[in-house]
Amino acid sequence: MAMANGVNLQDGLSCDDLFRNGDGLTYNDILILPGYIDFSADEVDLSSPLTKKISLKAPLVSSPMDTVTEADMAIAMALCGGIGIIHHNCSPEFQANEVHKVKKYKHGFIRDPVVMSPDNTVADVLEAKKNNGFTGYPITEHGRLGERLIGIVTSRDIDFREDLPQLKLRGIMTKIEEMVTAPSGVTLQEANHILEKSKKGKLPIVNRNGELVALIARTDLKKARSYPNASKDSNKQLIVGAAISTRENDKERLELLVQNGVDVVVLDSSQGNSIYQINMIKYIKQKYPELQVIAGNVVTRQQAMNLIEAGCDALRVGMGSGSICITQEVMACGCPQATAVYQVSKLAREYGVPVIADGGIQSIGHIMKALSLGASSVMMGSLLAGTSEAPGEYYFSDGVRLKKYRGMGSLEAMERKDAKNAAGSRYYHTDIDKLRVAQGVSGSIVDKGSVLRFLPYLQCGLQHSCQDIGTRSIQNLKKMIYNGELRFTRRTHSAQVEGNVHGLFSYEKRLF
Ligand code: IMP
Repeated sequence: MAMANGVNLQDGLSCDDLFRNGDGLTYNDILILPGYIDFSADEVDLSSPLTKKISLKAPLVSSPMDTVTEADMAIAMALCGGIGIIHHNCSPEFQANEVHKVKKYKHGFIRDPVVMSPDNTVADVLEAKKNNGFTGYPITEHGRLGERLIGIVTSRDIDFREDLPQLKLRGIMTKIEEMVTAPSGVTLQEANHILEKSKKGKLPIVNRNGELVALIARTDLKKARSYPNASKDSNKQLIVGAAISTRENDKERLELLVQNGVDVVVLDSSQGNSIYQINMIKYIKQKYPELQVIAGNVVTRQQAMNLIEAGCDALRVGMGSGSICITQEVMACGCPQATAVYQVSKLAREYGVPVIADGGIQSIGHIMKALSLGASSVMMGSLLAGTSEAPGEYYFSDGVRLKKYRGMGSLEAMERKDAKNAAGSRYYHTDIDKLRVAQGVSGSIVDKGSVLRFLPYLQCGLQHSCQDIGTRSIQNLKKMIYNGELRFTRRTHSAQVEGNVHGLFSYEKRLF
């Protein structure tokens, strides 16, 4: 305890004090008091467990939502030290293939290049150029990846032929004999070297049978950065999670996901304290003992205890806190997020079960508060939606570039045709044709650019926040929570107003 001349200098409240009288608080209701700085922000270690057996270099997880996480998002999350959870509002085959893409991802290698056939025409290449912005396309027998590579068409083959749109590529492509290729298994460094020597723009990668398996583009290699914090398994493949429901037939989905190398499954339920979930946890732990299981969602200790006893490896905490969520309004059920995270984390810690604070994260400050209340990582939907890696196309409304973001309990998500009510299962809707009660809304989010720029901003901000608090690591932050060293204060409504920008006629909020 900080003392001077016999006077106790400890201000504010401990975490336990903050919640002692059972109030429902949320992130904006509290602040963390600053500590003592004797280290630089870039020394701060953000490593933290996701589950009992998986640790992340950055405590960041993307939500299993069909406007947030498919393979592109999961790859970016893992490259930056977090993890993405592929949504299940789709067929099992589609979901398993997204997992496959992440597991097979090699930095700089394009695993699903656009391929043409010799019967495609100059017009097809010009059209593809309009859509993709580039002109180099490998050519296989029927225009499919995995077939024998027979040539490549590049801008040099097309130049001056724009006025012959029906000309077939067969006659103008660069043939395989004149091409430079690399065998599958080549490292990025070797590929770089080959491209440098050959001075070509594209390097097709072929297997022993001469079949096309991937492509490397010179422009990508130039852009390629290294990701020293990437989340990888023991085979050096990126790690990935996938969500499933607790329905009986999702056992087949699970099998497909496991075959494709999924590292962790999330049992996706808005109220996880159910016989269905308990049975599913036991089934998975018995059949796939190595697979990590994240159970939830829960917001009370009693809910959490049932899932801990069933054998889960982490808990997902949040009910009604999501930005697109109307659960608290419609169901009258839920819990303010700060209270939920504190209560569940304190209990789960005794059993070595990490907690993921899910929903309601709008800023770096909210992430820091979740971690300071005992969560080991945070799950984000809206903060990552609207980035170029989120599924869906951009569109314009009143001149603003937007992407769709919707709750999995919105009618729109539950009605998705190819999903057979997978989103509905999260809310215990069993029958596709029955009347549904929406627990989410559908909206839009402004274009945020790439998460590969946004995630480093979050990480850097977290390091600075830890520095202000006076902790060199998230691990140490945990100690500070439970020994009372970490001090909090409650914020009145007017304190919250004071803590935000105020008194200006206009301002621009640029974050990084
Ligand atoms: P956000 O980060 O505040 O946007 O919240 C994302 C979280 O909201 C997800 O990870 C889910 O736990 C939750 N969620 C997703 N869809 C719905 C919904 O339709 N209703 C309620 N909660 C939802």
